[in-house]
Amino acid sequence: QAKTTGAGSVLYSQSMADALLRRQLVSDRLKHALDAGAFYLAFQPQVHLADEKFSGCEVLLRWRDDELGNVSPAEFIPIAEELGLMDRLGVWVISETCRHIIDWASRGLFVPGRLALNISAQELMSPNYVGTLQETLGKFGCDPGSFELEITEHGLMRDIIAGKETLINLEELGFRIAIDDFGTGYSSLSYVKHFAANQLKIDLSFVRDMMIDQVSHDIVAATVAMSEKLGMETVAEGVETKEQADALKAMNCPIAQGYYYSRPLGAQEFEETWLMGANS
Ligand code: C2E
Ligand code: CA
Ligand code: CA
Ligand code: CA
Repeated sequence: QAKTTGAGSVLYSQSMADALLRRQLVSDRLKHALDAGAFYLAFQPQVHLADEKFSGCEVLLRWRDDELGNVSPAEFIPIAEELGLMDRLGVWVISETCRHIIDWASRGLFVPGRLALNISAQELMSPNYVGTLQETLGKFGCDPGSFELEITEHGLMRDIIAGKETLINLEELGFRIAIDDFGTGYSSLSYVKHFAANQLKIDLSFVRDMMIDQVSHDIVAATVAMSEKLGMETVAEGVETKEQADALKAMNCPIAQGYYYSRPLGAQEFEETWLMGANS
């Protein structure tokens, strides 16, 4: 208990207590969220920088809780992992994505390019992950070739051999692999060296700082060049302004994603705003 050393530490322990309480609350609600049907998906388009045409989209998990309101995946996914819920939740995301694909197809709407799913290292390393994925797609008759799996480096480097084997199996089935949040974490370059990926997503922090900081600008340009040299497709994340888009175009970055083009949209809005145009 830290109440003897002045107001600062009292405040500090109070905010820690608040954080613990919040975490407990989120855990309690999260345990029932799947059964309560409180999750849904958002879709954020990616575009070719050259003509701003739709090139694919990222699928993002959303949770709207009756008591807590909207909770960000950045907050609840680490908790879901700790609670051991992520495997089930990951299967739900894939099933729900397939359900949307089939629903759209039944109305003649096809998603050009691929749908990118976020896969945490914990999911990827879980026993029989590849089998579960195959089985889930099989149930819906969806093709691995429709998907990109976005993987962050955190955790995966702990077991390079097992991770590598799983990624190779997935690629053999037709999935494409993307390295997410490139440039953050501790092992970005060794990750690129060890895991053959098809796509590299430049973390939005570099894109954000690119126009105000020459070093970030140069890092983005060098990353685009490296990625191309290694035969990967480059996606710039978090593009919010025309200036950023123009700078990325000048670096020959092929694909972009961010609020400048579109926020993540609910299924219906995504359908009306992007799919209908792309299928007409
Ligand atoms: P991420 O994979 O890096 O996803 C991109 C995040 O950037 C999303 O946040 C997206 O809404 C946000 N974003 C997109 N464009 C812009 C922009 O122009 N500016 C800014 N500032 N942000 C932008 P979101 O949806 O809150 O997701 C946060 C993280 O949660 C994701 O980061 C991902 O790591 C994780 N996540 C989301 N859905 C899933 C999922 O289904 N499974 C797993 N394992 N993780 C997920
Ligand atoms: Ca992602
Ligand atoms: Ca990212
Ligand atoms: Ca991220």
